[in-house]
Amino acid sequence: GLTTDAEVVQREAESISARHLRSQNSQKFEFQAEVSRLMDIIINSLYSNKDVFLRELISNASDALDKIRFLSLTDKTVLGERNDAELDIHIKLDKVNNILTIRDRGVGMTKEDLIKNLGTIAKSGTSAFLEQVQQGGDLNLIGQFGVGFYSVYLVADYVEVISKHNDDKQYIWESKADGKFAVIEDTENEPLGRGTEIRIHLKKDASELYAEETKLRELVKKYSEFIDFPIYLWASKE
Ligand code: ADP
Ligand code: MG
Repeated sequence: GLTTDAEVVQREAESISARHLRSQNSQKFEFQAEVSRLMDIIINSLYSNKDVFLRELISNASDALDKIRFLSLTDKTVLGERNDAELDIHIKLDKVNNILTIRDRGVGMTKEDLIKNLGTIAKSGTSAFLEQVQQGGDLNLIGQFGVGFYSVYLVADYVEVISKHNDDKQYIWESKADGKFAVIEDTENEPLGRGTEIRIHLKKDASELYAEETKLRELVKKYSEFIDFPIYLWASKE
């Protein structure tokens, strides 16, 4: 298992305050209006099948890994100098701080990708899905509408996305689903090399369910069945 040392715990605890959203140094953005409405519905949802968030994030990690694997077929150097970047997915549960982390060594996102893909550009499915949900439709179908990422707010009240694309520096995206998000160059976390790390700060009611190793293991097993890449799961002792 994972051993959480005091330094890590302290750092994670500090990040819980979403300080970049207030920091002068970060760039602030407003979510596109429909995306904002969708997030509002999701974060306030009483929908009981919250498991879907993990399926959606694993599927995004897998898509990103597919992309870099495809690029590497014609250009091996995209995998990095040491050529050792494993194409895998790491899931880490920090029970002390109720943080669930999903990290992939996929293609990653540039700063512009983060801004466009996670907030400012609405997918064509956004309004269709909004309509569905408002009419009592099933949230479980979210992935089919191309907005699966936002399902993370079924279980989180604060999310950080740390990403490194070969063509850009490492950036942090963060949002409390309150209509806005912030993007800042990442000078505080360990370099990812390449790929994306999603830090899910679990809501109180979700932490009872998902900060639980047995439940998580069962879910990961279920969703990994159709995933082409190895998935590793760590959990802290407490
Ligand atoms: P979809 O996967 O259907 O495109 P999502 O809402 O799940 O819709 O994700 C939106 C976009 O965000 C993706 O298309 C992708 O460009 C980007 N994205 C999300 N997660 C990752 C990730 N782990 N790595 C790279 N890009 C990602
Ligand atoms: Mg997706």
